[in-house]
Amino acid sequence: MPTETTLFELTATRAAELLQRGEISAVELTRALLERIDAFDSKIHAYLNVDAERALEHAQRADDELMRARQSGDPHDAPLRGIPMSIKDVISTQDVVTTAGSRILENFVPVYNATVVEKLQRAGAFLLGKTNPDEFAMGSSTENSGYGVTRNPWDLERVPGGSSGGSAAALAAGEAIFALGTDTGGSVRQPASFTNTVGLRPSYGRVSRWGVIAFASSLDQVGPMTRDVRDAALLLGIIAGRDAHDSTTVDTAVPNYLDALGEIDPGQDLPLRGVRVGVPREYFVQGMAPDVESTLRAAIAHLETLGAEISQVSLPHTEYALPTYYILAPAEASANLARYDGVKYGPRANVPGDVWNVMRATRGSGFGPEVKRRIMLGTYALSAGYYDAYYVKAQQVRTLIKRDFDNAFDKVDVLVSAASPVPPFRIGEKSDDPLQMYLADVFTLAQPLAGIPAICLPAGFAGHLPVGMQIMARAFEEEKMLRVAYAYEQTTAWHTRRPTL
Ligand code: GLN
Repeated sequence: MPTETTLFELTATRAAELLQRGEISAVELTRALLERIDAFDSKIHAYLNVDAERALEHAQRADDELMRARQSGDPHDAPLRGIPMSIKDVISTQDVVTTAGSRILENFVPVYNATVVEKLQRAGAFLLGKTNPDEFAMGSSTENSGYGVTRNPWDLERVPGGSSGGSAAALAAGEAIFALGTDTGGSVRQPASFTNTVGLRPSYGRVSRWGVIAFASSLDQVGPMTRDVRDAALLLGIIAGRDAHDSTTVDTAVPNYLDALGEIDPGQDLPLRGVRVGVPREYFVQGMAPDVESTLRAAIAHLETLGAEISQVSLPHTEYALPTYYILAPAEASANLARYDGVKYGPRANVPGDVWNVMRATRGSGFGPEVKRRIMLGTYALSAGYYDAYYVKAQQVRTLIKRDFDNAFDKVDVLVSAASPVPPFRIGEKSDDPLQMYLADVFTLAQPLAGIPAICLPAGFAGHLPVGMQIMARAFEEEKMLRVAYAYEQTTAWHTRRPTL
C-alpha cells in the first residue's frame, strides 16, 4: 500500500484497485491531491478553480458506496469509483463555472455536463477542478489564457505546452490523477510531450464533443491525459462511443482497449514481433532540435529491439499541413465564435448606443489578441473573393494529406514521430511572434486534418526537459497504437520520472 505522500502519484488504474480493496479511501486520495494543489499550484497555476468542499463531499459518498459494494460483494460497474478528475476548462461542467480561458465567458455556468464528463461520472469519477487552457484552446503554450499562464513543473520558466497545458501540468505536478484535454491541432499531444505524461487524441468521431466549447468543429476531439498508457486505454474506453447529441460520432462498437494492450512480459522476447512501424521522413525536418531528433531515433531503435519491423515511409504533402490547418481552423473558429456577442452568454459591455455597439465593445474587451487574430484570419479566408483561393484550396489539400496517410497505412501498422520539434520553450519566447508559435505545431496538425488517432508518451529527455514520442494509426485503429505505446512504455522507465518541485 502506498504511503500518504505518494497517493497523488497514483495512476487511475492503481487507485481504483486500492479503493476497491479498501486499502485507501477516496477522501484520503482527494486530500492528498488538495494538499499538493495547496502547496504548488500558486507556482504552477494549472487550475482555474478547485472546489475542495464539493470534491470531498463526492469522495465521502464514493467511500460509502465502495464500502457497500465490498460488503455485498457486488461486482464493480463503476471502474473509476472514488477517483477525482481534472477537466480542461473548455469542457462544460454543470453548475461549475466554465470559461474556456476567456474573459468573454467569465462566470459562465453551464446548465448541463459535456457527454464526456457525464460518462466519467457514471463510471464513478468526480470533479476535482477545472484546468487552465489557452483561450478557446487557441495556442500551444497556455500563455493565451485570459487568466494567466501555466508553468511547466519540469522547469518553471518554461511553458507546459498547450492548449491543454493546465491538465498536463496538473498531472506532472502530482495535482491530478487523470485529466481530460481537447485536441484540435495537437493540444493533448504536445502538452503531454512537454510534461512527460501521456496524451491520446482519438479518431474523429470516436468521442462526443457535446458540451465541449467549439473551436474548429471538423478537427476538435476530446482526449484522456494520463500518467501511463493503460490509463489512457481505460479512459478512452469510458468516453468513446456514439452520442445522439453529436452527429459526428460514429456508431461502431467501442473495442476493449485494455484487452488490446496484451500482456507485456519485459523478459519476453519480441512483444512487437511482426508489427510494422513506419518512420515518415518528412517528420525529421530542418530546425528540429538535435536532442529531440536523437531521442526519437533512440526510441525507434528501442521499438526495433522489441521486434517491430521499422521502415521509412513518405507522407509527401506533410509540408502543407501547417498552412492548411491555419486556414481551416481559424475559418471554423470565426464561425463558432460568432455566438459570443454579449447577448447570449457571459458578461456584456455596458456601453451606450445600439446592439452593434454593445457587441463590438463586448467582443473587443472580452476576446484576447490571439482569438481576435484567428477570427480575423478566418473571416478573411471565408470572405467573397478569397473563399476559393484559401478555404476551398485548403479543403482540397486536406484530402491529399489524408490520402498520404491512407497510402502509408497500406504498408505499415503505425507511424512514429516526435510530437514537437523542440523541447518545452521559455515563457515569452514565442508569444510575441505568432508565426513562430504556429511553426511549433508542425508535427501535430496533419493527424487532425486526416481524422486519425495519435498518442504521445514519454520517450526520453533533452537535458532536464521531457521529449515525447507520437504514435499514429489508421482511423478507428486505436488498439494498434496503444499496443505499440504500451510495449514501449513497459520496457522503458521514462514515464516513471517525476519533476522535483
Ligand atoms: N496549437 C494549435 C492551435 O493553436 C492547436 C490547438 C488545439 O489543438 N486546440 O490552433
